[in-house]
Order: sequence, then structure tokens, then C-alpha cells
Amino acid sequence: MKIAFIGLGNMGGGMAANLAKAGHDVRAFDLSEEALTRAVEAGCTRAASAADAVTGAEAVVTMLPAGKHVAGVYEADVFPNAAPGTLLLDCSTIDVATARANIEAATAKGLVAVDAPVSGGIAAANAGTLTFMVGGTDEGFARAEPILAKMGKAVIHAGDAGAGQGAKICNNMLLGASMIATCETLALAQKLGLDPQKFFDIASVSSGQCWSLTSYAPLPGVGPTTPADNDYKGGFAAALMLKDLRLAMEAAASVEADVPMGSKARELYEAFVAADDGGHDFSAIIKTLQD
Ligand code: NAD
Repeated sequence: MKIAFIGLGNMGGGMAANLAKAGHDVRAFDLSEEALTRAVEAGCTRAASAADAVTGAEAVVTMLPAGKHVAGVYEADVFPNAAPGTLLLDCSTIDVATARANIEAATAKGLVAVDAPVSGGIAAANAGTLTFMVGGTDEGFARAEPILAKMGKAVIHAGDAGAGQGAKICNNMLLGASMIATCETLALAQKLGLDPQKFFDIASVSSGQCWSLTSYAPLPGVGPTTPADNDYKGGFAAALMLKDLRLAMEAAASVEADVPMGSKARELYEAFVAADDGGHDFSAIIKTLQD
């Protein structure tokens, strides 16, 4: 299948490579020459522009920083050049309102569009083990599923247009709040004189168990190997967690939802990211809770 892939950064680079590896004709474009060269080395075809990539493609995947980038590329490059019936898959994490507006505009132009954000970081993008949460019609999902399956381990139809983005930010709001709860709990356990590994062993099989503790323990030498064991490098950058928490707060305000824990998590990550100059993993927030 001829697939246009726009946005070949940390995530998109590995995803496009996996589509090419699966035998698709991937016509890749990125504003960064370096990213584009890497994609070509990984088996993609170089497109001269986003418009060039879209022309003649049966599907268009976007993996861009934010809603304004996706809306801009759709308006300037995708809508004028995509043939009727072309499938649009936006895998970026963007605000729910823009995702819905993009899909509505695409539908009005005779295109079929889904929002399909991912859970999983750069390693999962490279390994083809992402989880996709898809918003859109049954037809859109049925057409998107086999393409997304080449880049992920799970592809779930979350609901109508925008539901993928809703699921993504709800999941990450839960993750942000649970990471902070895990960090402050470990800091308290240490101050009470508990050996952190001993506490890990107890809580991992008790009612306090959660992913942030058991699979992503934020202390070096405790639990499985995590970014904490690598000076909080790699993993999921705190700045990206903050981005998702801001999107969650925006979505919560739009439906007047009361989200006190999510709101506090946003506030704490705002302060952490402003003070952190090293682009550390989001679990590094434990340092602010140990003093
Ligand atoms: P990135 O900044 O590494 O990549 C984005 C790419 O888009 C860059 O290479 C940039 O040059 C390109 N780009 C920007 N505007 C463009 C345009 N108009 N035309 C063509 N290319 C353009 O970001 P990333 O880490 O790959 O993240 C991409 C998306 O995935 C974001 O929405 C992010 O929130 C989401 N996400 C990231 C992670 C992660 O761990 N990095 C995890 C889950 C979701």
C-alpha cells in the first residue's frame, strides 16, 4: 500500500520504518533533513514535500508535535492533494477539540479520518509494540487497524472521533498522578527508616500496587531496571507528561469535570519542568519530594 508518513521524529522515525519493513511503500516527509535521511536509510521513499508525499497515497499517517501542526498540514498539504476516500491516521497526541475538527473537515472533503494516538515511548515505536487508541467510525477503524497493527501490539477502537485522544489523556492523567503518589510514598517510606527495596517488595504484592511502582520504580536499584537506574535519562520526558496533563486539564474544563488530582499533578509537573534543565524522565520528579 502507498502510505504517506509526515513527521519522522523520535516516534515517527521508528513507526515509518516498521511500515516499510512490513512491505508498504512509505513516502516519508519531515521538515528536518536529518530525520528524513534516517527514514530513507530505514527503507522509506523520500518525498520532496508533505504535498508530494500525499499525492497518490492511499493512506496518510501524521506524527507531529501538537494540534496546530496537524491542522496546518491537513489544511495546506493533505486536503488539496488527497484523492477521495484516502484514509488519514493522526497518531500525534493533540487536543480533543482539534482532533474532532480535523476529522469533521476531512469527512466533509470525502476523506476517511481517525485519531490514533499511542501509548509507549521511543523504544516501543522502534520495536513496533505501541498501543493505539482509535477514535472514528467503524469503517475508519476497520481500514486503520491493519496499518496500525504493523506498528503496535494492541489496536483498540475507543469510540467516535476524538475518543482516541480522550483515552490517551485520561490514561496519562492517571499515570502522572500515580507517579507522583508513588514518589511521595517512597520518599516517606525512606524517611520512616524503611529500606526502599523492602517497601517495594511489600507494596508490589499489596493494595498499593500500581504500574508506576511495580514496572517503573522511580528509585535507582529498586525493582526492575527503569530510567531511574540511568540517571533518569531516556523513558518518557517530564516535558511530554506536562504536555499531556495540560491537554487533560483543557479537556476537563471543556466538560466541567472536577479533576483535583490531575490538576495538582499538572501544577507539580509545571514546577518540575521549569526547574529541570536536563530533559529528564518524568519519574525524576521524586527528587523534588525527597528534600
Ligand atoms: P519529535 O519532536 O521528535 O518529532 C516531531 C517531528 O515532526 C519532527 O521531526 C519535526 O521536524 C516534524 N515536523 C513538525 N512540523 C512538521 C511539518 N509541518 N511537516 C513535516 N514535519 C514536521 O516528537 P515525538 O517525540 O516524535 O512525538 C510526536 C508525537 O507523539 C507528539 O504529539 C507526542 O506528544 C507524541 N508522543 C510522544 C511520545 C514520546 O515518548 N516521545 C510518546 C507518546 C506520544
